[in-house]
Amino acid sequence: MNNPLSQSWEPYFWNFQEECISVTHLRNQQGKAWEKCLENVRKNPFYQKKLNHFLPRQNILHHIEEIPFTTKQDLRNHYPYGMLNIPLDQVVETHTSSGSSGQATLVAYSKQDLKLWADLIARGLTASGIRPGQILHNAYGYGLFTGGLGFQYGAQLIGAMVHPISGCDLEKQIRLIQELGSQVLLCTPSCAMSLASTAIKLGLEPQHLGIQVGIFGGESYSLGFQKKLEEIWGIKVWNTYGLSEVIGPGVAHECPLGSGLHINEDHFYPEVINCKTGLVLGEGEMGELVLSAITKQAMPVLRYRTGDRVRMSCAPCKCGRTLARLTEIRGRYQDHFNIGFKRFHPYEIESILYQAKEVGGSYQLILPKNEMESLRIQVELMPGLNPKEFQVYFKDSEKEIEAALHHYGIDNFTLEWKAFGELPLNLGKAKRISS
Ligand SMILES: [Zn+2]
Repeated sequence: MNNPLSQSWEPYFWNFQEECISVTHLRNQQGKAWEKCLENVRKNPFYQKKLNHFLPRQNILHHIEEIPFTTKQDLRNHYPYGMLNIPLDQVVETHTSSGSSGQATLVAYSKQDLKLWADLIARGLTASGIRPGQILHNAYGYGLFTGGLGFQYGAQLIGAMVHPISGCDLEKQIRLIQELGSQVLLCTPSCAMSLASTAIKLGLEPQHLGIQVGIFGGESYSLGFQKKLEEIWGIKVWNTYGLSEVIGPGVAHECPLGSGLHINEDHFYPEVINCKTGLVLGEGEMGELVLSAITKQAMPVLRYRTGDRVRMSCAPCKCGRTLARLTEIRGRYQDHFNIGFKRFHPYEIESILYQAKEVGGSYQLILPKNEMESLRIQVELMPGLNPKEFQVYFKDSEKEIEAALHHYGIDNFTLEWKAFGELPLNLGKAKRISS
C-alpha cells in the first residue's frame, strides 16, 4: 500500500496558489492587508492612541518600521477584552496564557479567525505528510492553551482522525498509542522525550509503537535534540512554531526539505529586529522576531515583540514555497541566565550537549548560588547506556563537550551523567533551569 507518511519529504501543498505565490503578488497582498488592518484597528482605543502619529500613505510596506511595537505588557494592561477589535458578541473562542509570570493575556477569535487558524495549520500538517484518514495522537494541552484545539482544527480540516489526548498520564498515553493505532505524535519535544522514557520503562521500544511522524513545537529545541528524537523514536520529526498572542500554533512550520520553517507571511508579517535598538536587521541576521497578524479580525496585534531569537531568510526555497523561512529559532531572550558578568543561553548548551552520539534524553541546568559553586549540567545518555561506564568508555565525547563548553565561555561547570529517563518527566514545556 502506498503510505504517504513514508513519502513525507514530498513538497506537497495544502494550497499551492497561496504557498507558492509570486513574491510580487505576495508583497502586493501584504500591502493591501496592512492598509485594511490599519484602518480597522483604529476602532480600538489602544491602537487609536498608538497610531496617532502614523498617517495612511502609499507603499505602506516601506513605512512599517514607523509603527510602534506591541508588547506582552500591552496585552496584560488591556486584559481581558481591551485589545478586541470586534464587538464582544462576535467573539466565538478565547484562550489565555497561564499567567505564571504575571497577569495573564487573552487571545480571541472570530468565526473567520478560527477558519483561518485551521487552514494555516492544515498547510503545515500537509507539508509534513499528514493526509486524510491518518490517526493523530494529539498530546498538546487542551483548555486554555492554544496547542490542543489548534492542531485538532487543522487536522480535522484535512480529514485526519484526532485523539484529543491533552496532558493525560504518560503511561496511559503509551497504552492509547498502541490500542488506537496512532501514526502521528503531536506534542512538545520534551514531552516526546518523556513518552519515550515511559515506553522504555514499560519494557517497550518506542520504535515499535507504530508512530511514524512527530510534529513537535511549543518550545524551542536544537537540531541535535531533534535528531535524537528521530533516533530514539525511529521517526521523522518536524518542527512547528507559533505563539498564543499572535494566533497559537500555525505561524510557521518546517519545510518538507528541512530548509527552515516557512512563515505564513501572507497573514503574519515578519520582521527581525535588534532587541536593544528596535531597528530592523538585514536578512539572515540573528535578532528578535516581530510579528503582525494583519488579517485577524478579533485581535490583530501589530508589530508584536515575540521575544524569540531567530534568523530569517527570504531566499527562494527548493520545495517551491515562496514564503520566508525561519532558518533558526534559538529560544527566548528572557531565558538567558547570568554567571558572574557573563550571559548564557540554554539553547547553546543544548546544542553542544546533543552533538555527542551518546547523549540523549532530557537535561537540566542547576545554576550556582555563589562564586564557589559551579554550573551543574545534568544530562541523560541514550537508552541502554550506563552513566557509571560513561567516564570509562566515552571519555572522548566528554572531552569534546567540555572543550566546547569552555569555548562558549563557561569556565566552571560539572557534567553529571544520568541514565535515560532518570531526570523528571514532563507533559508540557520542560523547565530547563533551576537554582
Ligand atoms: Zn521549503
